[in-house]
Amino acid sequence: MQARSEHKVALVTGGSRGIGRAVVLRLARDGHDIGLCYRSDEAAAEQVAEEVRALGRQVFAQRVDVTDRPQVKGFLAAVEGHLGPVGVAVTSAGITRDRPMVLMGDEDWDSVLRTNLDGTFNLVRAAVFGMMKRGAGSVVTLSSVAGVKGNATQTNYSASKAGIIGLTQSLAKEVGRYGIRVNAVAPGFITTDMTAALSDKVSSELTARIALGRFGRPEEVGDLVGFLASDRASYITGQVFQIDGGLIL
Ligand code: NAP
Repeated sequence: MQARSEHKVALVTGGSRGIGRAVVLRLARDGHDIGLCYRSDEAAAEQVAEEVRALGRQVFAQRVDVTDRPQVKGFLAAVEGHLGPVGVAVTSAGITRDRPMVLMGDEDWDSVLRTNLDGTFNLVRAAVFGMMKRGAGSVVTLSSVAGVKGNATQTNYSASKAGIIGLTQSLAKEVGRYGIRVNAVAPGFITTDMTAALSDKVSSELTARIALGRFGRPEEVGDLVGFLASDRASYITGQVFQIDGGLIL
């Protein structure tokens, strides 16, 4: 086991790729040791862990399915055992299974709701308990513009992301008096593996609806999450921040 660090500890689900990876690197640069989880891509997770170590921070990475409650509890315990108490929790693990509703299978619905909404609940419930005991903490959830405005072919995804907004706003009201802030970030279209599946035609149609004329970069979302996690956001809680380049959905 590594020696306990004097630095702050942040936990990031889905930290191996895309937005989660950018959040990990932002938080590491801001002085956090990092606990991250991923579902299957061990090589990507190990690469991010190397980048965190190169920044001079400690890191603990574990394969965890966020839909599995005992695994999530075990992950939190392992992170705290290796690095110390978690002060920042970011839930970036998420999936899409886009289809028009009439063609949507049970598995498309269930897997998206379980991963995105239940996965967020599982991690945040586990992490917030210790934060309440310590009287401090910051939780940042990943919603989406689809959860704010809806998006055709994404009834499952939009419902999960709207649910995350309700969870975030309600929890902020529950735990504010314990010194814990809870905020949601709702990205528009960000260049990651998730949006790489879009056809060139769909990508250019979407780009035409973005005021800044381009998809966002994961690092731009990472910077917003880093700000919300920090003491610079000390009077901000229960909010949903859209980061979408001026998207009209
Ligand atoms: P991504 O590149 O596809 O990465 C998804 C991450 O989640 C990976 O690290 C993946 O691990 C992990 N993951 C997926 N299912 C998991 C599970 N059951 N348990 C644990 N980890 C799991 O996605 P992204 O584009 O960075 O998206 C990150 C978050 O932002 C998601 O919640 C997404 O809904 C939200 N978002 C993204 C966009 C966008 O345009 N990209 C827009 C709005 C909101 P493995 O690599 O091991 O599979």
